[in-house]
Amino acid sequence: MKSESTKLSLSQRIKLTFRGYQIFGKENPGLNLSVILLSLFKGISPYVAIFFSARLISALSEGASYTTLIWKAAYLVIAVTLVSILSSWAEHYKGYCEGNVYWTNRSINGQKLLSLDFPALNDAKTQELRKLIENDSNSFGYGLFNLRKHLEKGLTGLTSIISSLVLTISFFSYSVTSEHPNLLFLNSFWLVPCVILLIAVSVFFSAKLAHNNEKFRENNRAALNENVYRTDFWYVQTTNDQNGAPMENRIYSIDKYLNKTFDEITSLRENNIIWNHEKGIGGISSGLSAAILALFMGMTYIIVCLKAYGGAFDIGYVSQYVGALTALTGGLTLLAEALSSLYTNASYLKNTFDFLDISNDMYQGSQTIEKRSDKQYDIEFKDVSFRYPGTKEWVLRHVNVKFKVGNRLAIVGRNGSGKTTFIKLLCRLYDPDEGEILLNGINIKQYNMEDYQQLFSVVFQDYHLLNVPISENVAASTHYDEEKVISTLEKAGFADRLASMEKGIHTYLGKEFDKEGIKLSGGESQKIAIARALYKDSAFLILDEPTAALDPIAEAEIYQQLDRIVEDKTAVYISHRLSTCRFCDEILVFDHGEIVQRGSHENLLSDPDSLYSKLWNAQAKHYQKKEMANNSGILKTP
Ligand code: ADP
Repeated sequence: MKSESTKLSLSQRIKLTFRGYQIFGKENPGLNLSVILLSLFKGISPYVAIFFSARLISALSEGASYTTLIWKAAYLVIAVTLVSILSSWAEHYKGYCEGNVYWTNRSINGQKLLSLDFPALNDAKTQELRKLIENDSNSFGYGLFNLRKHLEKGLTGLTSIISSLVLTISFFSYSVTSEHPNLLFLNSFWLVPCVILLIAVSVFFSAKLAHNNEKFRENNRAALNENVYRTDFWYVQTTNDQNGAPMENRIYSIDKYLNKTFDEITSLRENNIIWNHEKGIGGISSGLSAAILALFMGMTYIIVCLKAYGGAFDIGYVSQYVGALTALTGGLTLLAEALSSLYTNASYLKNTFDFLDISNDMYQGSQTIEKRSDKQYDIEFKDVSFRYPGTKEWVLRHVNVKFKVGNRLAIVGRNGSGKTTFIKLLCRLYDPDEGEILLNGINIKQYNMEDYQQLFSVVFQDYHLLNVPISENVAASTHYDEEKVISTLEKAGFADRLASMEKGIHTYLGKEFDKEGIKLSGGESQKIAIARALYKDSAFLILDEPTAALDPIAEAEIYQQLDRIVEDKTAVYISHRLSTCRFCDEILVFDHGEIVQRGSHENLLSDPDSLYSKLWNAQAKHYQKKEMANNSGILKTP
């Protein structure tokens, strides 16, 4: 990331910045306008006060009448009040528009992730970019939505510079009188380019020093990212209340481990190259940058005072010029900082656009799939081989399977043999690298992907439920058929638990949105995941270790009811409990990504040396031993 970002040319940076502002303006209508208005009012306001107070001082020094002085004071008060009201209104308007920024920032990223093909979503680079964008924004104050800060700074600086020039332009038109011959050189035309040169040189050096600091941060941000990742890791682990993490923290003394890493993170942060730079050279160069501008200011004050001493203008103008020049340095500093930040920000924007430009490379066919009530969908794997993107190992090799409509197919095999991957290909989460998958004789790539995926209900091993009402979890929607939700929950064995719930299917999972929400056990959650698959009522029902978390009674109930649950669907079970697979029409045995055996339970057992026999005997032996122990009274089961 580091080398890529620092290679950006100026024109690339300008293009990135413009693209950023386009998105920013589109997503936050009103915010750009509010920033522009605020910058204008903020930039002008000091000069309004300077101008009118200078007129008041001039009137005083000229011995003006009481009424004139009152009027001059009134102008001052009215002008300052007016600008203050406008600035304050613009500040609030901007605050109101900014309320959306946090949300739009997240929604852009979230929408992008939702729109990605599964392989692109799962790609390590996608996840890395997403993390980088969050870090850039939260830790550095850069990225898409921090553009507004740089815009505000730059425009305030620019307005300030223009206002200052308007107030100082008359400086050059007033001449030192002939009573001060040794100051007549101040009337020379050359004073104008000299002052401009003085401004240019001091701003250049000041901006250069400030920009060096920015560049240093940009070039070394990888070091800080590492720090932020580790801090995030620590925070997520300590606050994780899911899946037994708090228990494991205590039982395995992971809390001590985390405390130790906390010390390491603290020391890493304290010794971070960027913070060390900020403490040392960075701080010194910031000081130098301010000193150069102060020096410039001092020199201009001397010139203003000498001209006033030479009779060119009165004390009121001295106050006007000194005030305007003081504010000018502020404006110049703001503009220099803004340009420098925009320059650096472009490399952070690149991460955002790299992320937003990730393309969906899976072929999207246009053929629609007819909804058939008889669920006559024939699927066939023809010599399918697959490797996960970016890996060399074949995970599936020459897989040939034909699904018979309405059949029950079991998939067994050791861990890592490719069973879940086979399901992922079946559901078109990935495409095969070799061979093809056909639906009713046509390659599934030719179909509309959403239509195709509608054919499948899958209960994955690592299913995920949302902290929303049970009904919405089951229907995967806020609109649902209550009776259907209840009946699918009953089919999934959740009836008794549901009956015990005061709010029934409207009970929330977790307490995030409802303090009366409930926490379900692993088995209960799995039943809801099964109900969700049944509610979808697809042609194919796929259960990956569907009863792993269920108690033996619930498991037996599910399997007894399986035929009724599955109805006329084509069902695929992945299970390590081979006894549950014996009733299937066909069993596929996977080993190292290949189907090494297929057939009915009895057929497969007929070869005692086969993998299936070994897997079966390994489990059967365990039950036989238990049986013998039971009979001999060693094991007392209730
Ligand atoms: P099974 O379901 O039979 O236990 P899987 O299909 O989950 O096996 O995994 C098969 C192999 O693919 C394993 O070696 C696993 O490490 C690898 N694998 C699974 N998912 C990914 C992934 N997203 N990226 C790379 N390799 C993966």
